Amino acid sequence: MWPKKVVPKTRNQKKVVKLIKIYRDKFGLRKTVIKIKFSKGKLDNDIYAEVVMKGRVAKIHFNEDLMDKRPEEIENTVVHELLHIVLYKLTDRASWIIQSYVRLRYAREILEDKISNLEHEAIERLIRALTK
Ligand SMILES: [Zn+2]
Repeated sequence: MWPKKVVPKTRNQKKVVKLIKIYRDKFGLRKTVIKIKFSKGKLDNDIYAEVVMKGRVAKIHFNEDLMDKRPEEIENTVVHELLHIVLYKLTDRASWIIQSYVRLRYAREILEDKISNLEHEAIERLIRALTK
C-alpha cells in the first residue's frame, strides 16, 4: 500500500520528508511524483531504502528499522535514492539495450551488474561532493 500523502510522524520521518524536498529541488525533479512509505520488518536488514521507477512516478520505500538504528545515514540515503531517479533514464536505456541485443543470459546479467556498479560508484562520488 502506497499512501497518497504521507504525514510524517516521527522525528526521523520528518527529516526524510524535509530532505526529499530540499534535494528534489536541487536536482530539478519537480516533474517527478515522489511517493514514499516507511515500514518496519519489510525490507532486508541491510537495505536502507529502495526506489522503483515507473514513468514519472518514483516510489521510495524506507526501512524504518535501519533508519532508527542509524539516523546519521538518513541524508546519504535520501540523496542516494534521488540520484537513482536522476540517473534513471540513462540506466533504464542501458538496461533496455542489454535486454534487447545481448543474446546470452549470463552476459546480460554481467552487463546489468556492471551498469549497476558503475551507477553506484557515481552515486557515492556525488554524495561525497553534495553532503558534508
Ligand atoms: Zn542504490
